[in-house]
Amino acid sequence: MTPGNTSNEQLPSKGTVRILQLYPRDMNIYGDWGNVLVLKQRLAWHGYDAMLLEHNAGDTFPDEVDLLIGGGGQDSGQVVIQQDLQSNAAHLRALAEDGTPMLAICGLYQLFGRFFKTHDGTLIPGIGILDIETHGGDERLIGNVVARSEEFGDVHGYENHSGQTFLGPGVRPLATVTKGEGNNSTDNHEGARHLNIVASYLHGSLLPKNPAVADFLIEQAVTRKYGSFEPGEVDDSLAELARQHAGTRPR
Ligand code: GLN
Repeated sequence: MTPGNTSNEQLPSKGTVRILQLYPRDMNIYGDWGNVLVLKQRLAWHGYDAMLLEHNAGDTFPDEVDLLIGGGGQDSGQVVIQQDLQSNAAHLRALAEDGTPMLAICGLYQLFGRFFKTHDGTLIPGIGILDIETHGGDERLIGNVVARSEEFGDVHGYENHSGQTFLGPGVRPLATVTKGEGNNSTDNHEGARHLNIVASYLHGSLLPKNPAVADFLIEQAVTRKYGSFEPGEVDDSLAELARQHAGTRPR
């Protein structure tokens, strides 16, 4: 059986989800672009269309967005986008408070918080959507990660960051690390959950191996826009195989 949608693919579209990728030019490492492709493909399998939009530093922020997604970046990339991010902070905060689903990976996750103080002492202010702060160190946290989430089951991915993130009381961890480090080298927390935001250190990219996270974001976007979500039948056997394989990898 071909993985993907197992039902009739000729049905008319149930609607269109506008996905905005934040800063793909400067914040898009370790295959994070794959997350956008997964959302687009799963939307198709569920019977919806995706419209892919991009916002880079200096662009005008689009009027209507249903789902936001952004990836990781070098410290230098984070410096490049910081001003633009600040100028859109109020709007992004309003979208988040309104329940817009968002996926923020690694470098963008850090900047959704209060600040990232890099290992060389540069202070990059964040937009404070998430009650977190990040401190760079000399040690890089690198390797495969498995983390247990009540909401999404085991979450699989790959981390590579010098920033160590600490959660405040305003957010909850996405998952508890069972292999690897996650947010920092001390507390076993990986990522953060708040409103309809999923934030994570995990690349890989994250969504191909974690379809439950992808479908959470899709369901929130579609429900907000159309009142309800009618999932298609999706065969996730390949994703399951990838998860099983990832689970056996050494750190
Ligand atoms: N530059 C940040 C760090 O090293 C984020 C890295 C990343 O996005 N992978 O912590």
